[in-house]
Order: sequence, then structure tokens, then C-alpha cells
Amino acid sequence: MPTELLFREDAYLRTADARVIGASERGIELDRTIFYPLGGGQPGDTGVLVRENGERIAILDTRKGETLDSVLHIGAPSSTRPETGERVNLEIDWPRRHALMRLHTALHVMSCVVVAPVTGGNIAPEKARLDFDIDMSLLDADRIERETNALIARGVETEIEWIADDELDARPELVKTMSVQPPRGAGRVRLVRIPGIDLQPCGGTHVKNIAEIGGIRVLRIRSEGRRNRRVEIALAG
Ligand SMILES: [Zn+2]
Repeated sequence: MPTELLFREDAYLRTADARVIGASERGIELDRTIFYPLGGGQPGDTGVLVRENGERIAILDTRKGETLDSVLHIGAPSSTRPETGERVNLEIDWPRRHALMRLHTALHVMSCVVVAPVTGGNIAPEKARLDFDIDMSLLDADRIERETNALIARGVETEIEWIADDELDARPELVKTMSVQPPRGAGRVRLVRIPGIDLQPCGGTHVKNIAEIGGIRVLRIRSEGRRNRRVEIALAG
């Protein structure tokens, strides 16, 4: 069953009301949600569903369901299952999500400092990484850190655009990340633009202004195979 994805239009929603449209051992489905489901290297949100009687159901993970735009809110195996039709209040773990948004947006910026095909990536609340198909001698931690932070300091606003699937097919240069398929669905693809810096298909959550990232530190650079030179970063503060 499709869920209205509120985070797609406003990544800053910390709470919302929703109605339960299904609940099984696989997870709880809602008519609308602010919980981002695992995808594109960004982990699923955690938080709480609050029932009308005040009971709190902890959500430990969020995953995509089998059909387009369906979202499964996953509680502990022993937790209460709400009734279909019931109204609930949603609360995401905002400090965790905000750290993920800052690191996620930082990876977009860093992907413009290291000019090479991206072969992998992952985001966690405390650190994030991109893998590049590049010679190790071309990766200099100090330079990556300095140039990424210089771009972040420009403080530009991120923008969302949608293009048709066939328009993306005609512009393959937009797809930098070979390991992650663009977030297609219903004939259109979501693009994230950081004006003057980056443009790529992405379904994740980003900060409004890249200044909100603050800055990054390169934690380490190491080889994970010939085509996977891994650059790991953390927020500077
Ligand atoms: Zn993104």
C-alpha cells in the first residue's frame, strides 16, 4: 500500500499525525510518514509511534515495502501492534536524522572534490563514506578536507527537481554512483541540486543550506579493492 512520503517534500518534519493502514509481523504501514526507509546508503529512521491512549511503540528501523512508496515501520518483535484505522502520532529521532542529513549532504559535496566514479557509499549517524574508482596516489586527505570545507562555506541552498525517466536516460552523466540505482518511480526521478556544486539523482534527505553541515574531517582513506578506494568522513563539530 502506498504511503505519502512527507520527508520527500520537507525533511525537517519531526512529528506528524497518521492513520494505520496495516500492521503485520513485517511492520506497521501508515497513510503518511516522516520516517525515511533505508535506501541510497542512508539508514532507515528510528523513533516512536504514540497511540491515542498514550502508549509508545518504539520504531527500531524503517524499510521499503514490496510496492512503490510503501514503507514498513519496524518495532521490536514483542511490541504491541496497532489496529488498522487507528490514529497515531509519529516522532522521529531527530538528532540522529539531522546528523544523517548533514553527513549525507556532505557526501554530495565531497563527490565533487574527488573527481572519479563512485562505486559505493554508506551513511551512519557518526560517520559516512564514499568509495571511488581512482588511484590511491590521487587521494590526499588534507586536500579533500580543505576543498570540501571550502565548498560547504559557500552556504548555498539545496534544491529538489523532478525529471522524467527518459530525460535521465538521455543524460547518463548525472548518475555518478554506479552501485545505487536512481530513485525511479511513477515515471519520474528526483534530482538534488546544490547550485554551482552538484546535481545528481537522490531520494534521500538533505539539509536546506549546506552551511548547516558546518564542516567535515577526513577520518581515513584506505583501499578496499582495486575499484574501491574508501574515503571516510565525520562532521567537524
Ligand atoms: Zn542525496
